[in-house]
Amino acid sequence: MKPKLIAHGGAWSIPEKFEKAHLRGLRRAVSEIYPQLLTSISALDAVEAAVKILEKDPTFDAGKGSFLNLNGEIELDAMIMDGSTLNFGSVVAVPNILHPVALSRLIMENTEHCLLAGTGALHFGKQMGMEEVDPHELLTSRELKFYEKIKNDPDFKTKSPFEPHPKGTVGAVAMDQNGNLAAATSTGGTPRKLPGRVGDSPIIGAGAYADNETGACSATGWGESIMRVLLCKTSSDLLKEYPAETAAKMSVQILEKRVNGWGGIILIDKQGHYGFAHNTSKMAFAYADEEGKAIARIKI
Ligand code: ASP
Repeated sequence: MKPKLIAHGGAWSIPEKFEKAHLRGLRRAVSEIYPQLLTSISALDAVEAAVKILEKDPTFDAGKGSFLNLNGEIELDAMIMDGSTLNFGSVVAVPNILHPVALSRLIMENTEHCLLAGTGALHFGKQMGMEEVDPHELLTSRELKFYEKIKNDPDFKTKSPFEPHPKGTVGAVAMDQNGNLAAATSTGGTPRKLPGRVGDSPIIGAGAYADNETGACSATGWGESIMRVLLCKTSSDLLKEYPAETAAKMSVQILEKRVNGWGGIILIDKQGHYGFAHNTSKMAFAYADEEGKAIARIKI
């Protein structure tokens, strides 16, 4: 199979002044990782590595640059899934690590569990040799300013209107030379969320899903709505009957019609076709084209 790689950097009303940074970060993730996917690494390695690049980039709401919760803390959610085995690993509300996607993979491959939460997840990561970082290393002045602005606003809702509040979750979907599919998603969640709040990103079938028999997806958007329709599993099921583009569009239509949801999705079907859809005003993504070139776009 010809390897494929697509990544996203959130679906929201990305202000023009942030567009370049989104495109640069996403292009970098695809152009650095796709050549390795062509020659050596697996789909699972590729989605982990691409998401790690995006977690390190302060542009996005994942790892460094994440939103603060109501208490002014950063709590991260992430998930990774292997489409060949249906194995997955997730972390929810974990503090003080830069790469929750890597911790998710360690959980998947080194424990009998699928999902670890909070300080338990952090403790396991440290046991496995992951570095605990000072929370300030994850904090950007942009998010601190935004938090100061909204922290005492009783009318601020993470849900409604979903826009124009920034949502820059990241995700990646890949197919390797063996036709194996994988997906990963990582986020700081929503701004001013209640401490302990967990969104769709680390929930299997909601924020990500991968099945070699159908396809692999990563979602972004208003998590409470995405969970209700299990957006990624819904897309994966639709892939049994519809082409990639149609399945992506139909699942976002279901999100909108059934639960008034907001979001976007990227996917690769089992034949290696890309699919993409969103109902937010913009979505940032990048993919490797037929020649292996990284194409980055902000889609309106
Ligand atoms: N889906 C994420 C959440 O609700 C946010 C996002 O995608 O931007 O936690």
